[in-house]
Amino acid sequence: MRTLVIGGGPAGLYFSLLAKKKHPDWEIRVAERNAPDATFGWGVVFNDKTQNYLKDNDEPSWRDITSTFQMWDNVDVIHRGKKVSIRGNRFAGIRRLTLLQILQKHCLAAGVDVRFQTELAKPEQWAGFDLVVAADGVNSIVRRTYAAEFGPSVDVRPNRYVWYGTPTLFHGLTLIFRENADGLWIAHAYKFDANTSTFIVETDPATWTKAGMDRKDESAARRYLEGVFADDLKGAALLSNKSAWLNFNLVKNRRWVHGNTVLLGDALHTAHFSIGSGTRLAFEDSIALFEALEARKNVPSALAEFERARRPKVDDLQAAAQTSMEWFENAKKDMRLDPEDLAYILMTRSGKIDRENLKQRDPEFVAMYDAWKQGRK
Ligand SMILES: Cc1cc2nc3c(=O)[nH]c(=O)nc-3n(C[C@H](O)[C@H](O)[C@H](O)COP(=O)(O)OP(=O)(O)OC[C@H]3O[C@@H](n4cnc5c(N)ncnc54)[C@H](O)[C@@H]3O)c2cc1C
Repeated sequence: MRTLVIGGGPAGLYFSLLAKKKHPDWEIRVAERNAPDATFGWGVVFNDKTQNYLKDNDEPSWRDITSTFQMWDNVDVIHRGKKVSIRGNRFAGIRRLTLLQILQKHCLAAGVDVRFQTELAKPEQWAGFDLVVAADGVNSIVRRTYAAEFGPSVDVRPNRYVWYGTPTLFHGLTLIFRENADGLWIAHAYKFDANTSTFIVETDPATWTKAGMDRKDESAARRYLEGVFADDLKGAALLSNKSAWLNFNLVKNRRWVHGNTVLLGDALHTAHFSIGSGTRLAFEDSIALFEALEARKNVPSALAEFERARRPKVDDLQAAAQTSMEWFENAKKDMRLDPEDLAYILMTRSGKIDRENLKQRDPEFVAMYDAWKQGRK
């Protein structure tokens, strides 16, 4: 089978790895527009479940990936300068580039034909293959080329975000709320290697405009935010990787398949970064597509099966991510809350964790919270 995978991100590489290892006789070509050592962003987080999927599907790459993991089990909420910790939430952080390079290495070793610095933009460039996997990310050219067939919706959300790194280590998934004369600034921070943390800053449009961000260049914006979060950064710098303010694009598609072409990963769906699941979804898509191809005899029925089996799970996660995203978009109204209440609301915001579940994760936190509530009556 001749397979073309457009995009060498987690979705495209992991699918290629699984398919090539199982079928060494298949031709699998990955076209990636970037060089092997280039990517956007800094580190990403995974939960426990992701690690299990990776182990079950390809142990050698799982071993390499997990060997670089920074692990923690606490979510820290910082509000009005007070930190509230909730334990029992197992996460791992990894540098995005490290993850990609591990996947590249395993793909190349398996015999995948990975072509870097190869940008595909026209249908004639992906003609003649038996299967075309469009794993070309949130701005997918394939999705835009066949917009009438896929029926995409791209909802540009109001908040702005910018993705930095920092040498300050945040030993846990840290959500920081800082208010100043311009409005509310929220940071999502966690370490992803021994020396670096991700530091994503999110804000609402009114705060962004009041702070004059539309007139600040990249370094002026960074200096401003270093000031806002000076206490949290302990005076350290924010590090840029062409870090620019963006709006989150919520992507969905009415149809996932067009002929022998299928969308995968962010090209197909996005999930707000506040629940840290986009890469996990990309991996799960790859596994589901691989399994559908194994189970069915021909490409059309495998692609139909992929969509049938996978759509309910994606819908479910996107619904939880949407609730979380909207909470952050409206976080201003909860800034009147005490840090303890804010932490409780944050933990239960997406509907995936209820009080009982929270109690199982961290009975001490729930006991502390109940006693604190009681004391306020
Ligand atoms: C601020 C932020 C924080 C995030 N944090 C997390 C997190 O903590 N945990 C998590 O799980 N997820 C996180 N995500 C989501 C995660 O980054 C994505 O969901 C994931 O990268 C999707 O993988 P993908 O392979 O589908 O797409 P991508 O990783 O975007 O890969 C697509 C690839 O296609 C290439 N490409 C694009 N167009 C072409 C073309 N025309 N020709 C050739 N190549 C092309 C690109 O160069 C890229 O390498 C975050 C996202 C954001 C924005």
